[in-house]
Amino acid sequence: MDHLAEAHGGELVSPIVDEARRAELRAASRDWTSWDLRPRQLCDLELLLNGGFSPLRGFMGQSDYESVRDGMRLASGALWPIPVVLDVTESFALALKPGQPLALRDEEGVMLAVLHVEEVWPPDRLREAQEVYGTTSREHPGVAYLLDQTQPFYVGGRLEGIQLPRHYDFRPLRLAPAELRAEFARLGWRRVVAFQTRNPMHRAHFELTHRAAREVGANLLIHPSVGLTKPGDLDHYTRVRCYQALLPHYPKDTVRLSLLPLAMRMAGPREALWHAIIRKNHGCSHLIVGRDHGGPGSDSSGRPFYGPYDAQELLRRHEKELGVGMVPFEAMVYVEDADAYVPESEAAGRRSLSISGTELRRRLNGGLEIPHWFTFPEVAAELRRMYPPRHQQGVCVFFTGLSGAGKSTIANVLLAKLLEMGGRPVTLLDGDIVRRHLSSELGFSAEHRRLNILRIGFVAAEITKNGGVAICAPIAPSDAVRKQVREMVQARGGFVLVHVATPIEVCEQRDRKGMYAKARAGIVKEFTGVSAPYDPPEDAEIVIDTEQLDPGEAAQEILLCLDRLGFLGPGR
Ligand code: ADP
Ligand code: ADP
Repeated sequence: MDHLAEAHGGELVSPIVDEARRAELRAASRDWTSWDLRPRQLCDLELLLNGGFSPLRGFMGQSDYESVRDGMRLASGALWPIPVVLDVTESFALALKPGQPLALRDEEGVMLAVLHVEEVWPPDRLREAQEVYGTTSREHPGVAYLLDQTQPFYVGGRLEGIQLPRHYDFRPLRLAPAELRAEFARLGWRRVVAFQTRNPMHRAHFELTHRAAREVGANLLIHPSVGLTKPGDLDHYTRVRCYQALLPHYPKDTVRLSLLPLAMRMAGPREALWHAIIRKNHGCSHLIVGRDHGGPGSDSSGRPFYGPYDAQELLRRHEKELGVGMVPFEAMVYVEDADAYVPESEAAGRRSLSISGTELRRRLNGGLEIPHWFTFPEVAAELRRMYPPRHQQGVCVFFTGLSGAGKSTIANVLLAKLLEMGGRPVTLLDGDIVRRHLSSELGFSAEHRRLNILRIGFVAAEITKNGGVAICAPIAPSDAVRKQVREMVQARGGFVLVHVATPIEVCEQRDRKGMYAKARAGIVKEFTGVSAPYDPPEDAEIVIDTEQLDPGEAAQEILLCLDRLGFLGPGR
């Protein structure tokens, strides 16, 4: 018997069936319709199956959904602020019938659960956005997901669980509600304050959590969301290593780290209330709620989606009913002359320091110092491993220009120069070479050119992700496709677009391969610049005029550009 608060709604739900029923369901499933779960649906399913979403026993039906959307309560009256629904395509929905069992499968086709279909309906997603997120702006990531990535029909029904989604990373840290409760009981913890986060933790977070635990006389659970968080967030592998590096700074045996497979919605106040319910189910008595808890920050005009303390206000109104204590916290700032962290309001008039996320990125990119007052050295070391300075990161130098512009010629000089410098592996993906080895079945229609460039982009992204230099030299006539490649590569490395802007008359005069003559004669069709379009880029990092510069000089200009952007290291 533990002394922890009961789950939301009174009972920790556990829809995983026993061995006999599992065998029965597996045998029967041969004839059932299947739905392959998308990443966010997998996260939701995991918390439905492990009791983290108690008292939910399945994906919501229409009355629960509408009551949650409009009044933050389930039809039963229990508080619940966020719709948990299974969205499916229209054609899939129209073939479903109430009473029908639906096999829910992971990406590999493993059946994780059976959904006993009760209701299928097309929701009003705009209204859902307005009620749940307080806005219909697609600049809000939760709204963008709802309006652009959610399928137009919802399916509600009770679940029978076959098995939890599998994870192979950090397994000892992935404790389900019942496991965490058992752990607390074993440790003799009666009061536990949870800290929710989607970012690495620095000194300010350390001070805040440590103080919060002391203030309410509780043990601390660091409970980061490692499902889906805000797009662009640091990956959870790095974050978890940062949390592990931080743990030894707390007094021994007062704190525990566990990972929560939650797909966040960034819904601000409603998100905070949801977080409190989920932590209650995990056996926690308190939740730390800081500034702009669960919010996505500001829109592009700098207007915040939620007030900084809206989440605290909403939770304050419901904490009694919920039975989860809120530990509100202001932002903590470092006061230099006291060498200490204090709440923002206490720092008024004193010289305080802070480092923003953007500034931290800048320092990591530049290999600059990260002060000890800002983050513990062990945490900084983890971040540095993941974010080496720019000159150790991978980079893609992507040439574009007409056939005969000089892309291959200059790319080969650049290749030789970079190999001479050493330090990073270099790969040249030349247009003609790629077409021989990677795209041999493709021609020159717009669609085939798109495929060809996306393949190059895929390979270049893999190379840069692993710290290499990828030099690409295709024509790449489409601006939209080039931008797509830029995005793919920039997710994990540098991207430098080089426009070899040789005018078509010059290229045609050179006609090194005799292609222009063939194109003019109509023997070669869809030839770029002659009978197929070329969009000159407006986003090139550097433009090369080959009438002014010879190939060696052009390569030098590109090297100087790489240096300016921080991609060349010290010569040693
Ligand atoms: P692409 O790869 O853009 O199709 P190539 O590099 O294969 O073009 O061909 C360019 C041709 O132009 C080569 O024969 C090269 O010697 C010639 N050329 C003349 N001046 C220059 C210059 N300044 N830079 C690059 N190539 C030049
Ligand atoms: P893209 O970027 O448009 O896919 P590539 O750089 O892969 O183009 O291939 C361009 C090379 O293929 C040219 O330098 C030329 O030698 C040859 N080629 C053959 N047919 C065509 C065509 N219709 N348009 C452009 N280049 C062609």
